[in-house]
Amino acid sequence: MKILVINTGSSSIKYKLFDMDRHQVLASGLAEKIGETSGELKHAVFDAGGQTRDLKRPGFIPDHNAGLIRIVDLLLDPEWGVIARKSDIAAVGHRVVHGGETFQAPTRIDEAVLNAVRKHTPLAPLHNPPNLTGINVALSIFPDAPQVAVFDTAFHQTMPPRAFLYALPYELYEREGVRRYGFHGTSHAYVAEIFARHVNRPLEGLDLITIHLGNGASMAALKNGKCVDTTMGMTPLEGLVMGTRCGDTDPALPFFLADHLGMSLKEIDGLLNKASGLKGICGANDMREVLHKRDAGDPRAQTALDIYCYRIKKYIGAYYAVLGRLDGLVFTAGIGENSPEIRMRCCDGLDRLGIKVDPVKNTGARNGILDIGCRDQAVTILVVPTDEEFKIAQETIRVLESSYGNTG
Ligand code: AMP
Repeated sequence: MKILVINTGSSSIKYKLFDMDRHQVLASGLAEKIGETSGELKHAVFDAGGQTRDLKRPGFIPDHNAGLIRIVDLLLDPEWGVIARKSDIAAVGHRVVHGGETFQAPTRIDEAVLNAVRKHTPLAPLHNPPNLTGINVALSIFPDAPQVAVFDTAFHQTMPPRAFLYALPYELYEREGVRRYGFHGTSHAYVAEIFARHVNRPLEGLDLITIHLGNGASMAALKNGKCVDTTMGMTPLEGLVMGTRCGDTDPALPFFLADHLGMSLKEIDGLLNKASGLKGICGANDMREVLHKRDAGDPRAQTALDIYCYRIKKYIGAYYAVLGRLDGLVFTAGIGENSPEIRMRCCDGLDRLGIKVDPVKNTGARNGILDIGCRDQAVTILVVPTDEEFKIAQETIRVLESSYGNTG
């Protein structure tokens, strides 16, 4: 069964086509800078041995519809040999950022689902509108293929009120949906499942802390496999220090910035989301560059790393207290998968909690999952490569199977 996974941004469409029977990626790519003269389509196809052929096709892509049509044309191009006809694509899975409280699980898309996603736009004004555009374009190009929405927020819907409510007037929650939602849910869910499979135990019996450290970063606490807390909040700004986002700060900070520096709301938004985090402290948001600067003796880069790791460690302690015990810690995403130093520093001094990284295993060659915990410790520490697109494809099949089951 071939599943196309689409992740639509305001000026981009990312896609991956999976052959789920063979557990293989057939093609992947990105249409970017849609609507700009410097638009470009990047496309790669993979054979069974994982060998890649790729192309870059610069050129104006007027809108998302034109972008997806070009992607489908490439998939159909006999020279690239990915699919023979559009109907080879059995279903389309869409990443949708915000499902609010309406969506607790991936959902087959119909008119009511589209309306509900639209209704949640005020909660994710930058993300839900392009996600909807992607769905509408895909519906028009693949009218016969079932389409499924997989929400970033859904995995965290099991959080109890004590974790998801802010101590604000309750009416703001009731009327406006002001609460903590959490994001990166697909990634947290995926790596938790892989952890359970790796230790050969049911996820429902595991207490875990999952740590997603990419450009955006978040952690989740899982009790018996279900999310009970996460670091991101109503928006992805809360929690950990990120590439350009500040994470936790004093909520009164914007008043100071407005009153004393005369900054507008838009400027403050830009400052906290785009000019803070690692970038704000040391001028670089890419962790490789931060490490490079630190190695070259830049004290600000050292400070940025200190703050970054300190915040993660603080949340490991907090989530240990929330869970009361811990089976596993999972590192994932660009930094979590690739930086032994960050992993080591986040766990430094936590031996009393049964958390200890083995320095040799931690720097071992990674080919898939890496088990980096010391053998005599209670907590298993794994590095698990995340694969949000594959998880979306899996969920798409699961939703279709259950909907076919329901309708007989
Ligand atoms: P992602 O958003 O998951 O693609 O992660 C992007 C982040 O991963 C960027 O900050 C990269 O600098 C970081 N990253 C990728 N490779 C490495 C590496 N070898 N060491 C440290 N950070 C890395």
